[in-house]
Amino acid sequence: MDLTIIPTFRCNSRCQMCYVWKSPTEPKEELRLSTLEKLPDGFDNINVSGGEPTLRKDLPEIIDLIYPKGRIIEISSNGLRPEKLIAIIKKYPDIKVRFSLEGDAATSNRIRGEKNGFAIKTEGLRKLKEAGGTDLGFALVIQDENVEQLVNIYEFSQKEGFELATSTLHNAWQFYKNDNYFYDRTQVAKQVEGLVISMLKTNNVKNWFRAYLNLGLIEKILGHNRLIKCTAGSDFAFIDPWSDVWACNVRTDLPLGNLERQNWRDIISGSQYNDITYKVENCKQNCWMVTTARTAMRSSLSPKLPKLEPLLWVLKNKIKATLGIDIHIEQYIDYGNVSDTPIIERINFLDHKDKGKLERGRDTIEKRYPLKEFENT
Ligand code: SF4
Repeated sequence: MDLTIIPTFRCNSRCQMCYVWKSPTEPKEELRLSTLEKLPDGFDNINVSGGEPTLRKDLPEIIDLIYPKGRIIEISSNGLRPEKLIAIIKKYPDIKVRFSLEGDAATSNRIRGEKNGFAIKTEGLRKLKEAGGTDLGFALVIQDENVEQLVNIYEFSQKEGFELATSTLHNAWQFYKNDNYFYDRTQVAKQVEGLVISMLKTNNVKNWFRAYLNLGLIEKILGHNRLIKCTAGSDFAFIDPWSDVWACNVRTDLPLGNLERQNWRDIISGSQYNDITYKVENCKQNCWMVTTARTAMRSSLSPKLPKLEPLLWVLKNKIKATLGIDIHIEQYIDYGNVSDTPIIERINFLDHKDKGKLERGRDTIEKRYPLKEFENT
């Protein structure tokens, strides 16, 4: 099972597609080390995400605590405080680190509301490499405003010796936002094809499967059904800053329990757990985030192996790429069927004065997550 730990909703970015920064948590109410101690060993991937995890003063202690509990430990950061990760990487060079980057300097800074963010995070990732980091990369949210730069950013990452993880616009409680929609689905989807083909042409097996993951992103962008069914709650879960455990980071009607008050074993068994996994099996949403897609692509026999469907797709198209045969992505995608989408303008906050506002006394799930409906079609 994969686990995403969200130790804080504080964030020092001001993204246009994620409003966590508007709803910060108070340090004293955030997930405690003693609560995380209750997690068992044996997770596959544990991702420490946010908010911005480097704003937790005890991040090194959090990592010490979870490092033995997962096969892969990952930190998803905005990259604005890279110095906070140097000691962690020196101690655990194999920790996976991804810094959010949304395009070239002007585009990334505008989308993320970060003054000078591009320079800080690119230089910061180089410093983590010097410190011995072996699995470093950027993470980019594909949207209308940066999709033209997608292949360039991928090539830039490759040249620097970094990975590039991609996701796309979603609506989710984790983002405090339910009006992320594409302005032009077809235009965005078409440009992801270039990344799929570039990834297949590399000699990196991980990239070949990322090509399939990006194929799934094209389907998501167009509003099509997921390539593979979601396994939220069974294959992955989220812990929010209040220690609540959720089957997924999208729907607010899929709470599994609370790790402060309960044991992990009780949370992932029993009648409530069965009700939630039943809801997931019947979920009509078309999310395709890294967490939901990566786990869905995995074989149930071993998390290191892919399912047959992505494996066959990768083999077929990798052979074509090797032989120099054209790969026609449109043969897999029905571009004649594009879902309607409302046009809701995204606001960039680079030059806005808006700041997050701490709201005290959020003692119920209703108060913590006032938005209820998160549509991903
Ligand atoms: S498909 Fe449904 S259950 Fe799966 S992550 Fe999305 S909203 Fe959650």
